[in-house]
Amino acid sequence: MTEARKKIKVTYSTLASPDPLLHQYYEEAVAQAKADFGKTYPMFINGEERFAAKTFEKRSPVNLDWVMGHFQYGSLADVNDAVAAARAAFPAWSARPWQERVEIMRRAADLMSERLFEMGANMSLEIGKNRLEALGDVEETADLLRYNCDAIEKNNNFAFELLAESDKHHNRSVLKPYGVWVVISPFNFPGALAGGPSGAALVAGNCVILKPATDTPLTAWFLTECFRDAGVPAGVFNFITGSGSVVGQGLIDHPDVDGITFTGSYDVGMHILRSFANGRYPRPVIAEMGGKNPTIISQKADIDKAAMGVMRSAFGLQGQKCSACSRVYVHHSVKDQFMGKLLDLTRQINVGDPTVKENWMGPVANKGAFEDYKKFVAELHANGDVVYGGETLEVGNGYYVAPTIVDNLPLDHHLWKTEMFLPIVTVTGYEALDKAMVLANDVEYGLTAGFFSEDDKEVQWFLDNIQAGVLYVNRSSGATTGAWPGYQSFGGWKGSGSTGKAAGSFHYVQQYMHEQSQTVVD
Ligand code: NAP
Ligand code: MG
Repeated sequence: MTEARKKIKVTYSTLASPDPLLHQYYEEAVAQAKADFGKTYPMFINGEERFAAKTFEKRSPVNLDWVMGHFQYGSLADVNDAVAAARAAFPAWSARPWQERVEIMRRAADLMSERLFEMGANMSLEIGKNRLEALGDVEETADLLRYNCDAIEKNNNFAFELLAESDKHHNRSVLKPYGVWVVISPFNFPGALAGGPSGAALVAGNCVILKPATDTPLTAWFLTECFRDAGVPAGVFNFITGSGSVVGQGLIDHPDVDGITFTGSYDVGMHILRSFANGRYPRPVIAEMGGKNPTIISQKADIDKAAMGVMRSAFGLQGQKCSACSRVYVHHSVKDQFMGKLLDLTRQINVGDPTVKENWMGPVANKGAFEDYKKFVAELHANGDVVYGGETLEVGNGYYVAPTIVDNLPLDHHLWKTEMFLPIVTVTGYEALDKAMVLANDVEYGLTAGFFSEDDKEVQWFLDNIQAGVLYVNRSSGATTGAWPGYQSFGGWKGSGSTGKAAGSFHYVQQYMHEQSQTVVD
């Protein structure tokens, strides 16, 4: 079956109008994924499968009767072994010509593309992503690897000649890897945000320990297989599962870790930044954190575009994108028109098993998110007008909730500033654009932001004044969401990111290396 498949390259544009075979292959892969339910999966340390004393069960949020697999509940002993293995593997891996690392990472990317349907189907079941979102996540992971390979190649691994004092001086600047790099990833993009940073750290010459979210160990296992099968040597890539507070914290506290990429919530990210700073000397932390992303709609907006863009960004992946639109500021003169169109579009959303083609929204990720939803909507019912949704749904034995639109929530209510990470959007009218901008910027976060206006001057005003790392103007396919390596750089300002540098862009892979200036006199 696998051999006979036509090769389908998923890109930004093919996702908009997919090949019919894509659906057939995906559905076959879902059937296979279900047949594989209940297996036991190892960790991977020093090139070997590792089993722990305890395991934990991963159930699908799509249907809580479905036990997708049993995963290892790693311990501090596993953390120590993984760090030791990575340390031991570092001299040989970093000494290899960069061309060889690029070749291995390109092979890993190609394996991800080859295993697209298997990985995508399992990801849908693992975290409730619809088919196009899941396939997009897998292919984006592969493209992040390729992007970083290209960056290393184009820049000759960032080796530059410097000015020389005389013809006897030979002065160069080079970038060298740090050593042992930890990647801690969130549940919502279990491919791209685990594989992307791992690939960057590896191609730069570091050895990696990946600790995925407890909700998404299976996608991380598939990534591990891709790295292993691509020829990444023993100890160079290690995979640990278990709880954030035990193995995650154990990695953060380990003195022999040289750098970290964390993607996840603001609270955990800030905690990691602070505790990692307690080491003997400063070490890099790339922390990508939450969002509270606004869309401003001008009276000069095309309201059809705005309504479609907001609907897709607020409710895609059940509002569990860091880039999800959760706040809308719409000019009072077009507010009724906008709300009418947003409601029409939202009514058409099917919520249910996301592996079924008709269902655009699946379940939320876990019990915690489901309970949060109930708590937040109770607050919203009490303090504002819930004009759509605001209830849990009995459409399957999973964590299903309705897309929710809220009007008239007082502007000083904390839910204008708290990241809910659920399919909930709050909307308010404004009189003057400048006031909308003040409100849009008045949060701790600065990840993405959207604007709708057909007036070029207003567009420039938005670009000049909004405080966020990723901006979209007049984008009906997603007011604040949707990034692809090479097309949109993706990184947050303020409480959304620690480095000021974005993924899938020019300045990313260099962060996994430190600069060395070399002056040699004849
Ligand atoms: P999370 O709860 O912060 O968890 C992220 C990761 O940190 C998980 O692997 C978690 O492990 C681990 N962790 C928890 N406590 C830890 C500790 N003390 N030490 C080390 N690691 C620890 O985030 P999430 O719920 O998975 O993801 C949603 C959040 O991610 C949202 O805030 C979203 O905005 C953000 N996000 C940001 C971006 C971006 O690019 N800026 C992208 C995607 C998501 P366990 O799962 O085992 O607890
Ligand atoms: Mg969490």
